[in-house]
Amino acid sequence: MEIIENPQRMQERANQLRAEDKTIGFVPTMGYLHEGHLSLMRRARGECQVSVLSIFVNPTQFGPREDLDRYPRDMEGDLQKAASEQVDLVYLPSARDMYPAGFRTYVTVEELSEKLCGASRPGHFRGVTTVVLKLFNLVKPHRAYFGEKDYQQLTIIRKMVEDLNLDLQIVGMPTVRESDGLAMSSRNAYLSAGERRSALSLSRALKRAGEMVAGGERSAALLREEIRRTIEEEPNTQIDYIAVSHPLTLKDLERIAGPALIALAVQVGSTRLIDNCIVEAHAQ
Ligand code: AMP
Repeated sequence: MEIIENPQRMQERANQLRAEDKTIGFVPTMGYLHEGHLSLMRRARGECQVSVLSIFVNPTQFGPREDLDRYPRDMEGDLQKAASEQVDLVYLPSARDMYPAGFRTYVTVEELSEKLCGASRPGHFRGVTTVVLKLFNLVKPHRAYFGEKDYQQLTIIRKMVEDLNLDLQIVGMPTVRESDGLAMSSRNAYLSAGERRSALSLSRALKRAGEMVAGGERSAALLREEIRRTIEEEPNTQIDYIAVSHPLTLKDLERIAGPALIALAVQVGSTRLIDNCIVEAHAQ
């Protein structure tokens, strides 16, 4: 497994691979790898001739009071996992190389980046789109793989690719969950045993909402209310938002009349967790 740290070196290697007509599959991550990340890596490896994983805890997507300094890291474990998944190349840029002194250019996908998580994390998606575009320019992938766990991020990246005519394909992959339903996340490592029990209320609430829609419920307000009740039953939970939204525009829906995104963010103890699902109203 090849490891590259320097951005110029990464770009040269990508040019070389393209000159050899190799298809490049790319999985950008912040590391502390779990099965969710591995599912993206497997898909990339299955579909492309060369699979590239990046690990970079991107400072520009963290707010001043967020968890940049304590974000979990395990480079040795991550490299072992990448090697056992037969990743071909791991790109490990440094913050200094990605954002040298005098860095001044940012990419913003307007509107989409202000909704849902964007409302409580101003600047977060600007950091995400900026680093993802930089990574695309360095790794030069034909396909890049993202998880639906971060549904808004996936939607925003698809929009950036469309709006800026980026010449690559974005592939979205389903959320990988623990056997009890908890969506896998590097941040789950922060949870105490009690908080982890409370955290199960996110997936339980989404499941309940899905059942209500399947049973004919169409009112977003009633779905949100049921989700709120399910989450507030558990100790140490503080709801940031519960949204029933159009899956492409992320605009609030009042009634479900087709596919809809149900997304939520909840602070469990000091850990902010997100989860979502897509529900579909079928004609009764
Ligand atoms: P992160 O390291 O959290 O920035 O995530 C890197 C990529 O893995 C993103 O595209 C995430 O959406 C994706 N990802 C994170 N958790 C999961 C999960 N539980 N299932 C599927 N994909 C995930």
